[in-house]
Amino acid sequence: METVMDTIRHYENLFEDYSISVSHNIIENNSDMIHNEFKSLLTSEIKKLMKTLKENETKWYNNGDYSVYTGSAGIAFTFYHYGRYYNDSAYIKAATELLRKCTTDFKSKHKITFLTGIVGPLALAAVILYSQGKKEEIEQLIFKLKSLSIYVLDKHNDIPDELLYGRAGYLASLLYVNANISPAPIEADLITKVISYIIKRGISYSLSNRCQSPLMYSWHQKEYIGGAHGLAGILYLLLQAQHYLTQVQIDNYLKPSLYYLQRLQFSSGNFPSSIGNPSDKLVQWCHGAPGISILFCLAHKIFEDSTFLDTAIQCGEIIWERGLLKKGYSICHGVAGNGYTFIYLFQQTKDIKYLYRACKFAEWCFHYGSHQNRCPDRPFSLFEGLAGVIYFLLDVQQPHLAKFPTYNI
Ligand SMILES: [Zn+2]
Repeated sequence: METVMDTIRHYENLFEDYSISVSHNIIENNSDMIHNEFKSLLTSEIKKLMKTLKENETKWYNNGDYSVYTGSAGIAFTFYHYGRYYNDSAYIKAATELLRKCTTDFKSKHKITFLTGIVGPLALAAVILYSQGKKEEIEQLIFKLKSLSIYVLDKHNDIPDELLYGRAGYLASLLYVNANISPAPIEADLITKVISYIIKRGISYSLSNRCQSPLMYSWHQKEYIGGAHGLAGILYLLLQAQHYLTQVQIDNYLKPSLYYLQRLQFSSGNFPSSIGNPSDKLVQWCHGAPGISILFCLAHKIFEDSTFLDTAIQCGEIIWERGLLKKGYSICHGVAGNGYTFIYLFQQTKDIKYLYRACKFAEWCFHYGSHQNRCPDRPFSLFEGLAGVIYFLLDVQQPHLAKFPTYNI
């Protein structure tokens, strides 16, 4: 039954796996760099896809979605990334203008995450304006960003803790601003408050539901595991805030939760999407192995526990096998997001096999749109569409610096 399901969800990966001969015009021999021939292929594909994105501006510019996840703030993020990579100030300017519009036109006050809320455009705008020295404007943006903490930390509000709609997503915006603006504009006190709140909620849910993990969370009555809604995404954000954590928080809660997560891995290498769900179906950043492998690469980097790397490597195997999704190319639930797994495995192991695999997933994206069984609702967006694929292809060109946007701060 499972096998039947699997063949429905992904294309068979017909790419030959890494060998020196098969990778000769993709990876530079005796180095860990992308071959110039493949780099120029990447560049020409990126420029082609960027042209498509711009030609379709009327379809995404005024659709009323200002979020990073599916709206114009996410497209601005790709413009910014592109502008920096190719040193093209027109794109930085376009990104700035788009983000200004997002911060003023964004209506909902109850969405508090980097991906779906106004804090995404606020944080991105602040970082871009920082590079332009617009001090006063930045102060206003940071003030707005911080003022939402009253809502985030109010125990009467029914806010989840996961990344897409919850507190971990607010934490992401605080960490992003502090990582990119100097001196760091968000006080440590606020960050530790948000962290403590998230950890306290996880402990209390775990105790009252007798969970085996010291931290557990639920979203829509399910204990999700993956990057977007689950424990892995929350732990990943907490680990990136490691300098704000106490030793007790790390030793008693984070590490044991990581060990707990490890035990949930299927023999295939994939992960269930939620606790108690036995089906081994989804292999995408938001649910399943990809988001979790990125977490375990970081856990290995921090704790130097080789079993964490083993977990990530097993994820990598199933993603190579089942990661060319029929669902499409997006970074949230598509091939580009899955391709990031190999970049992280490459960063962590320095094994160029993973860089080669990332390049093959990038190559799959060159035929954007031709291998998918449905068109996404927001086909030009960062997380569901074209802007995310462009972002990924830019990151493949600079694999040592690559970061999954908004997940990896
Ligand atoms: Zn998704």
